[in-house]
Amino acid sequence: MQTADIQRRWLDFFGQRGHTVVPSASLIADDPTVMFTIAGMVPFIPYLTGVVPAPYPRATSVQKCIRTNDIEEVGKTTRHGTFFQMNGNFSFGDYFKEGAITYAWELLTTPESDGGLGFAEKDLWVTVYEDDDEARQLWKKIAGLPDERIQSMGKEDNYWSTGQPGPAGPCSEIYFDRGPAYGPEGGPAVDDTRYIEIWNLVFMQYAIEDVRSKTEFRIVGELPNKNIDTGMGMERVAFLKQGVENMYEIDQVRPVLDAAAALSGRRYGANPDDDVRMRVIADHVRSSLMLMTDGVAPGNEGRGYILRRLMRRSIRAMRLLGVDAPSFDTLFAASRDAMSAAYPEVAQNYDRVSRLALGEEDAFLRTLVAGTSILDVAVADTKTGGGSVLAGDTAFQLHDTFGFPIDLTLEMAEEAGLSVDREAFDRLMAEQRSRAKADAKSKKAVLADVSVYGAFRSLGETRFLGYDELEAETRVV
Ligand code: ATP
Ligand code: MG
Ligand code: MG
Ligand code: MG
Repeated sequence: MQTADIQRRWLDFFGQRGHTVVPSASLIADDPTVMFTIAGMVPFIPYLTGVVPAPYPRATSVQKCIRTNDIEEVGKTTRHGTFFQMNGNFSFGDYFKEGAITYAWELLTTPESDGGLGFAEKDLWVTVYEDDDEARQLWKKIAGLPDERIQSMGKEDNYWSTGQPGPAGPCSEIYFDRGPAYGPEGGPAVDDTRYIEIWNLVFMQYAIEDVRSKTEFRIVGELPNKNIDTGMGMERVAFLKQGVENMYEIDQVRPVLDAAAALSGRRYGANPDDDVRMRVIADHVRSSLMLMTDGVAPGNEGRGYILRRLMRRSIRAMRLLGVDAPSFDTLFAASRDAMSAAYPEVAQNYDRVSRLALGEEDAFLRTLVAGTSILDVAVADTKTGGGSVLAGDTAFQLHDTFGFPIDLTLEMAEEAGLSVDREAFDRLMAEQRSRAKADAKSKKAVLADVSVYGAFRSLGETRFLGYDELEAETRVV
């Protein structure tokens, strides 16, 4: 089942059930304080909060998302992309828990030949919030699930709130059991590798106040209009339906991975470290392609900086695969071919996007050459002086001036038989960060113009927790 087929089944299913089909919004959230669209619900926030009356009682979408906070998981877990698509169905004061559970179960378990996703009932597990007995009873009634396959979770996992006064409510999540070859028995509470989270149902039910944290608050009553917000990971369903091992091997991503393997002359599946690198490249190239298509250009701050880091990480991973020559021409074209059926704008914008990508690659490769010669001199000096530790300020300079991620410096120093004064480097980074923070404070007036989305900033993921150290300027909030 191709990813496009899953998308079609999704939109048909909810469209036929009275949901208005809403096209994906841009990856650039319509809010200066939010870096990217991180979930299917983001474009619907004004309706979910009731600030703007919903123009329809129910809606459905397949939303492009970017979650940079998952960057360290990419390629290592089977299921985290920096770019992914979240399929959502939404009810604005219309159907509630029973409707949401009924639809989810029906779509998942209806045979493929009848337009469903064709999962076997025996492979599905669910979690509910521990106090949400209503959801537990509904799962038993609607899906006939035994109690053992409905696991209770605490607020940490199964409660949605913004971390601010306003709407909140319990969640219920659906997991697919990949079987004993993938981990121990016992459900998602025991193992999240064998049991893959595919779908989150959020029941926006209560109004909360006295919010001290995401898990500490006071419920002051039921919402007059209860809402449903759900999100199903399309890449996760795709990899499970396509019989491959992870989301980087699906039809929309795998061609990039194969291109990276071909360029390097290494075989995917031969070496676990190389496999991670190939998956990282496949993910990051796709994310970069989609970001540039939506209008982000590489730069030194905010969104542009995140894009730049994604591309540099790809170049770096190619280098670790033994490829020093430019490779974006091939990699981005592979990603374009895999994505433009679902997103025609990818092909339409490709000339502009590939110019940006190739320019960025060229600049970074040249920077690498320049930085490498600085490093070579510092290494020689250190050795002449009888030292075995590269100075922290050299590492800092390489980072600051040449954009060398610290692990690149560490690796290159190690190749030369030196370690790096990491403590001094960290201190210099911290100092730079507090300088940038002070600077950001003075700019805060602009960012303080918080629209309605601002209340949802605590959804979190606006910060780039990438690569090594975070530069303060990437923290848009
Ligand atoms: P996980 O626990 O696996 O990190 P999550 O609980 O953070 O997922 P939600 O915020 O509940 O995810 O998002 C709804 C759905 O979107 C998830 O059930 C999953 O199918 C999908 N999803 C979330 N993050 C990613 C990602 N980084 N890559 C691909 N799919 C994702
Ligand atoms: Mg997550
Ligand atoms: Mg989760
Ligand atoms: Mg979840």
